[in-house]
Parts: sequence; C-alpha cells; structure tokens
Amino acid sequence: MICGKKPGVDCFTKIVSTLGPATSDKEQIKALALAGVDVFRLNFSHGDIATHQKNVAFIRELSEELGVELGILADMQGPKLRVGQFKNGSAVLNKGAHFRLDMDSSLGDETRVMLPHKEIFAVMHKGMDLLVNDGLIRLKVLDFGEDYADVEVEVGGVISDHKGVNVPGVVLPISSLTAKDLENLEAALQMEVDWIGLSFVQRPEDVSKAREIIKDRAWIISKIEKPAAIEHLTEIINLSDGIMVARGDLGVEMPIEMVPVLQKKIVYACRRAGKPVVVATQMLESMIKNPTPTRAEASDVATAVFDGADAVMLSGETAVGAYPIAAVQTMNQVIKNVEGIQMYGEIMDLFKGRKDIFGTEDDLKIDEAITASAREVARHLPGAAAIITYTESGSTSLRAAKERPCLPILSITPYISVARRMSLVWGVITRRVAEPLKSFDDVGKTAVKQAKEVGIASSGDKLIVTAGIPFAHQGNTNTLHITVVD
Ligand code: PEP
Repeated sequence: MICGKKPGVDCFTKIVSTLGPATSDKEQIKALALAGVDVFRLNFSHGDIATHQKNVAFIRELSEELGVELGILADMQGPKLRVGQFKNGSAVLNKGAHFRLDMDSSLGDETRVMLPHKEIFAVMHKGMDLLVNDGLIRLKVLDFGEDYADVEVEVGGVISDHKGVNVPGVVLPISSLTAKDLENLEAALQMEVDWIGLSFVQRPEDVSKAREIIKDRAWIISKIEKPAAIEHLTEIINLSDGIMVARGDLGVEMPIEMVPVLQKKIVYACRRAGKPVVVATQMLESMIKNPTPTRAEASDVATAVFDGADAVMLSGETAVGAYPIAAVQTMNQVIKNVEGIQMYGEIMDLFKGRKDIFGTEDDLKIDEAITASAREVARHLPGAAAIITYTESGSTSLRAAKERPCLPILSITPYISVARRMSLVWGVITRRVAEPLKSFDDVGKTAVKQAKEVGIASSGDKLIVTAGIPFAHQGNTNTLHITVVD
C-alpha cells in the first residue's frame, strides 16, 4: 500500500468533494486538495455559472501548482418535480384527509395545491403513491384526470411552497436533461470539465441522448436514483462511462432498507463492467454541524471502501458544512485505515470483477488476460512497485483498475482530458507526457522517470508495464514487460 504521499496518490479509493458557499475561495479549495480530494463536484442545482467558472479556474491553477491532475465533475440538476405555492406559505395535511393536486396556478391550502407537471397525470393510476418533501409526506391516488389527481393522505405533515415530489412507481415521460440543464451542460463543457453527472436517469436512452450532445467532450456518470434505472442497470452501466450510487434520491424512491442492498449490487455490477463507481450522499452527514462524525458514518465510508468503490463522495459536508476540511481528512483517514489492513487486499482478491457470485471466472480477451497477468505479477514479484499503463483513450488504465491490484497504477497519457478523467478511477495515479510515445522502449524509459518523480519507485524496484502495440488502437493491450528501475 502507498500512503502519506501527495494528494491524489495516497489512497486507492478516491474522494469527491462538492464545492459550495463553505468552500468557494482558492485557499479553501487548496486545503481540500491537500486533505485528499481527487475530484471536485460542481453542483448545478445550486450556484450560478459564474461561480462554477471561477471554481474551475481555481482548480486548474491548483493542479498546475500541486503537480496533480485534479478532476472536475459537473453535476446536472435534472428535472425536479415540485408543487406550487400556498396562501400561507404552507398547509398541514392530516392522515386520512383528502387533497387535490391540479394545474390551477392559484395559491393552495389544506384542500388543494398546484402540481404543474402534466407528465405525472399522464402516467397516473389509481392506488399509486406520490411522495412529497423527501418522502416525508405520502399521498395515495384515489382518482385522477388529465390535469388533476384526488389523493388520500397516508402519511401527513406540513407541506410548504415548492416542495419536491417523487413518483417512484412509474417511468415518467420526461428527459433527464431539462432546458436549464442543456444550458448548464453547454457552459460546463465550455469550461472543459472532465465528467458530467446525469441526474434522473430512467432509461438507457437517457444516457444515449446525453451522449449525442456531449460526444467525447466529457465522460458521463449516470446517477442511479430511480427504480426504473435499477431495472435497466446493466444497459445503463454499459452506455455510461461511470455510475454514481445517488443514495439521497434512491432512499426516497425506494424503501430505505433497499439502499444498502442496491449499493452492493450497483458497485459490484460496475466493477464487473470495469466502469468507475462513486458512492454518494450522507457519508459524513453529521459533520455538516460537528467536527467529528458518528461511528456509524465512519463505518459507512469503510463499507464503501471494502466494497471496492472507485470513489466516495462528500456533498453538504464540504459545500455548506462548518468543517469541510475535517470532513475530507476524516474520510481520508478511514480510507487509509481500511486499505492498510491485509483483509482489504484479500477482499479485493475475492471480487476481482472477473468472477460471478458463484466463483465462475469469465473468459478473458487478450487485453484482459494481459491486465489480469499484471495483477498476478504485482502480487508475487518481490520488489514490484507499480503497474504502468500507457494509454491514449484511458481504456488500458481502466482495465488495470478493474483488477483492483495490490499496487498503484501509474497511468501515462499524452492527453490532458484523459489524465483528468482518470482522477476518479480506483488506484490510478495519472501523469502526462508532452506527446504520444512512439515505441515500447519509450514507455519503459518514461515509466521509470515518472515513477521516480511521483515517488512510488526507486533504484532496484520493478515496474510492471502494460501497453498495446501498435499504439493508438483502443482496447489493444497485448504486451506485459517488467522494467527494473536504474
Ligand atoms: C443523491 O440524490 O444522492 C445525489 C447525489 O443527487 P443530488 O445531490 O443532485 O440530489
């Protein structure tokens, strides 16, 4: 294990931190990076484009200053379904009461309120549930038309202006990118962010449509938060570049007791597909107010690390919390402690992503066989210090990470976009070369130089180098070579 090095190289599991009012100047962002953040998340549900632009500029300056490729994830808001306003700002809904949701824009009261989303009425059926205010209020549909629904209050509470509505039981005929998202998306792509977070993904087509717009300008991370997405999980994973287990909305849309089960299933499915996966939301929630987390929160972070997630994410803790730096430090310490014990390596060994749950190994293609061999060499060769992947598309490094080897993966690429995208990937330290390398000999020499510079190898150590020859053909990894550091 390598620990205690520069940001971005000290842990296998990466940290994503959401920026917000609590972390909006360069010094704070630098402190977050030094505490262990690998990827910064810009949450387009909040803040204006100018603020996000300013943060992007800070992060890019910091990358230069620290000599580390910090990643940027621009998370799109997606369609948020909300009720209208009330005469007194709110109304009390008592259990058993009857209530109406309609398209009438006049102010609401204890009997009715506007729900300005025709799409919901279009897919309604009697007996279905509507959830309001993060699921705290539950309404059952008794009757409906094309612009209204009469509901019974199953779980009551105070409903106030613009509260969010979730409709878990149906696929809504709504795109995951609204007009506002399309505007934000273009702005984010112009800022040259590395990853786009796609909210409200329900169908594989949602990812394909986003891809048509984004093309290769950024990689797509689909947020799994809707029951419909779970039904199409394999296709969504295949079409995406990465996945986020968005436990906030997932825990509203699905019974809460399903969240840990789904987290395990999603992480495991992503690892089998070799796609980066982020576990998100409420990881250290109490640190929004307190300088230390609860025992259960520390344990939650550890569970995601033991599951082999590529990254764990902080939201409110770093965006609006009172202790943003301490939250990152705590997360980093938990990760280091988990990764530092032998059992972690043994667990990674058990679930390499190549076996199904019954232990049946998948057949390997040539590129996978080379990468799997590199992993075995890393385990058994005394003095082995790192796996080196030379990559022009990122795919060789992703394949190496899929194996969850016991050594860091030093990913060398001539392309800045690829280098930055790798910041989210498990175990990958990324370095850039000025131009594409021409020969395997060049890769060996560059590997030695870069590994020494990063501080992961010294004279006499062995580097396990994988590459595809001839170069510049994606998915062509066919060569494994051991280079001794001079
Ligand atoms: C979530 O729901 O867990 C999530 C990460 O999405 P957002 O914060 O955008 O609601």
